[in-house]
Amino acid sequence: MSGRVTRSQQLPLAEGLRFSKHPCTTDERPDLRGLYGQLDQNYFDGGLAAAGYTIGWGRRMKKTSGYTDLPLRIVRISWEIHRLLPEEELIGTLLHEMIHVKLFHHRNDADSFSHKGEFKKEMRRINKIGPYRVVIHHNLPRKVLYQLRPYVWKCRSCKHILRLTDSRKPGLKSFHRVRGGKGCAKPSWTKVK
Ligand SMILES: [Zn+2]
Ligand SMILES: [Zn+2]
Repeated sequence: MSGRVTRSQQLPLAEGLRFSKHPCTTDERPDLRGLYGQLDQNYFDGGLAAAGYTIGWGRRMKKTSGYTDLPLRIVRISWEIHRLLPEEELIGTLLHEMIHVKLFHHRNDADSFSHKGEFKKEMRRINKIGPYRVVIHHNLPRKVLYQLRPYVWKCRSCKHILRLTDSRKPGLKSFHRVRGGKGCAKPSWTKVK
């Protein structure tokens, strides 16, 4: 990685540093910070370095492939999801988060959180450069979804299938709709897997 000084090196943010402290990983995880710096050069003229975000792998992120806490200046990427996907997906996710960073860095307003006007403009700009594609929402392949949610329950009353990330019994998540759009009147779960 280049010798640029990021906020994480200058001013240890408790949360940010914990993840980004280990540049060498033992489990084939790509060097996220290096990748971030490279994409910054290629797609943002190196303009994001000044924004001072710390970038790292998130813990137990099974539901979103990446997120950015704009005011806290933290970007977190899910290894649990990306280890199951081709690397261009990881780059797409990084670029997505980097658009938020860019918008917030320049505008510092609520619109930076949205996926509307300015975000879409940036997305189109990056997709035009290629070869990587930024999307608004990831549609994870079914196979990946199943791997991320290996615990399967079935509703006895309506046969609805629920896939969960952990082994707990369905609780709040037990609300589900039946055909016609109404909520299932009598959720009752039996474990399939
Ligand atoms: Zn987003
Ligand atoms: Zn049901």
